[in-house]
Amino acid sequence: MDDHNATSHEQPRCAAATKSGQPCRGRPLPGRPFCLSHDPSLAAERDAARQKGGRNRAAAARLGKLLPARLAPTFEKLEAALGEVHDGALDPKVAGAMAAIARAMVAVLQAGELEQRVRELEARAAGAGG
Ligand SMILES: [Zn+2]
Repeated sequence: MDDHNATSHEQPRCAAATKSGQPCRGRPLPGRPFCLSHDPSLAAERDAARQKGGRNRAAAARLGKLLPARLAPTFEKLEAALGEVHDGALDPKVAGAMAAIARAMVAVLQAGELEQRVRELEARAAGAGG
């Protein structure tokens, strides 16, 4: 075997393709051509994880009720981005930027909510005092 591989100096990549048809950028498991997400020998584990994922989605639905309505779509986008980064379909830098923007949005909403509550308290105090 002297198939000199020109790309042998590069990081090994998973041999599978993502849902979008792009080559998977996941790192293959040791001694395997596929990453954790694509190794056929791990299909049973993945099915179990997917069922757990279903439970997690139910948890996300409950969480969605706790979130401000404005943030629910952002949460869903971030959750999807998490899977896309793992599949190699989304640049981790893009996901990092999304997360930074989301943090800023949360900070703004929290500041606004806090200010609203302070105004309500001030209005109540003014009403009690006069
Ligand atoms: Zn893969």
